Amino acid sequence: MSGYQSDKRTDAPKIHHTFHVLVNMKQHSNFIGGDWKEGTGSSPNVNPSNLSDTIAMYTQGDVAHVDEAVAAATAAFPAWVSGSVQARSDALDKIGTEILARRDELGRLLAREEGKALPDAVSEVVRAGHIFKFFAGECLRLSGEIIPSVRPEIGVEITREPIGVVGLITPWNFPIAIPAWKIAPALAYGNCVVLKPADLVPGSAWALAEIISRSGIPAGVFNLVMGRGSVIGDALVKHPGVHAISFTGSAGVGARIAAQCASLRKKVQLEMGGKNPQVVLDDADLSQAVELTVQSAFYSTGQRCTAASRIIVTAGIYSRFMAAMKDRMARIYVGDALATGTDIGPVSSQSQLAQNLAYVEIGKEEGASLAVGGERLKRENEGFYMSPALFSESTAEMRINREEIFGPVAGVIRVRDYEEALATANDTEFGLCAGIATSNLKYATHFKRHSHSGMVMVNLPTAGVDYHVAFGGRKGSSYGAREQGRYAQEFFTTVKTAYTYA
Ligand code: NAP
Repeated sequence: MSGYQSDKRTDAPKIHHTFHVLVNMKQHSNFIGGDWKEGTGSSPNVNPSNLSDTIAMYTQGDVAHVDEAVAAATAAFPAWVSGSVQARSDALDKIGTEILARRDELGRLLAREEGKALPDAVSEVVRAGHIFKFFAGECLRLSGEIIPSVRPEIGVEITREPIGVVGLITPWNFPIAIPAWKIAPALAYGNCVVLKPADLVPGSAWALAEIISRSGIPAGVFNLVMGRGSVIGDALVKHPGVHAISFTGSAGVGARIAAQCASLRKKVQLEMGGKNPQVVLDDADLSQAVELTVQSAFYSTGQRCTAASRIIVTAGIYSRFMAAMKDRMARIYVGDALATGTDIGPVSSQSQLAQNLAYVEIGKEEGASLAVGGERLKRENEGFYMSPALFSESTAEMRINREEIFGPVAGVIRVRDYEEALATANDTEFGLCAGIATSNLKYATHFKRHSHSGMVMVNLPTAGVDYHVAFGGRKGSSYGAREQGRYAQEFFTTVKTAYTYA
């Protein structure tokens, strides 16, 4: 868990626009019960690549908006649950089709608000489109079981039903894909939804809501309430009309939500932080190992829950690996997320940048050697730019190797052999994803079986997963049922067992 608590709203003053520019800007409202509704405040969405660029204004809801959205969802539920599955499938398919058709435009919006390099942003949009298409099919495939009773002349049926009204709370780092991978299964399996997206990046979620508003989904089935987590998120978690919460975000907020949901007997699903290991063994293909480490640790500015931040390297390849990493990292260009040639965009916010740079200092104080980067960068426009930081000679006990930093900062840990590499990889409170670079089938197979993480990558970056299979971790990284693929039905449905005597 990060040792720093960040208040992202302190980034709001990063904007130096004059008042009239902001008030004349388009205001984006909440979507409740089929209508667009103004909240009680308004928040600017600012481009982290260029702080003088405000994308638009987004309304801030309050607790009354949560009440209204839950009431609308509750009212819409009976007709939605008993309605045509074909209509549901068609609507999800239509949403997916529009997202895919608008991939470039939505990708630009995403890159502009979150700072992900444009090609990565477009890929995220495409992923969101595919997720809706996948669940358009899945809702037609929901099945149950008919099995014989142990008693004569009795039949047993096991069916899956929707949970009811679900609250979805999402983080800033995947502003369209994470809302998509919660909304699509929730709707596919017959639930009604209230989405609270990250306050820092409401633009992509709003665009998605606007697409959903024209998809044929009845009023009240899907609702968007923007605003702060401590207000909107907290109200959703506590609301008696919300039957389940699906949350992705930090371990600290997740733990609090889990405790609240337990006391309210609410179903809860949490996807949280990571401190993912990338193991590199002596027998690895060096250039492949370097490429996948750079991808895992630094692309998307290291702001992926599946990013590798502990690079565990066996002694026989350590020196060659470090030399090759320095060469490769010298060729990474950090710049404006929308510019051609940018490999890595800016950090998402002032507070995240401050946290990253603080951890660079912590690493130095702990005795690790800063081999590359770790500096604030100046670019043509003022933005939150930093060079990716790689520490050598770091140890597994150091804070930089134990706490989630959530930025482009990684530590290399030298180990004797595979056995020590595996033990070091598993020595963490997290367990989202783990990678190994090796040409030895015996080690690859052993690592897949003995890694204490929910996802394992062999000769692939830790970040980069398919949209149609289970996603999630173990230990402090995840709690509750898996997300995505057909495993999503575990969370978004509840099982009923019916007995018939005939
Ligand atoms: P965060 O600060 O925990 O926020 C996540 C969401 O929770 C935001 O919408 C936030 O609102 C809301 N929230 C904050 N306080 C709340 C409260 N008291 N009650 C209810 N909701 C509340 O996380 P983040 O900084 O946005 O995202 C980064 C974290 O997400 C990292 O730890 C990363 O590893 C994790 N993550 C995990 C996965 C995964 O699948 N495992 C995927 C992506 C990211 P605001 O908008 O006000 O912040």
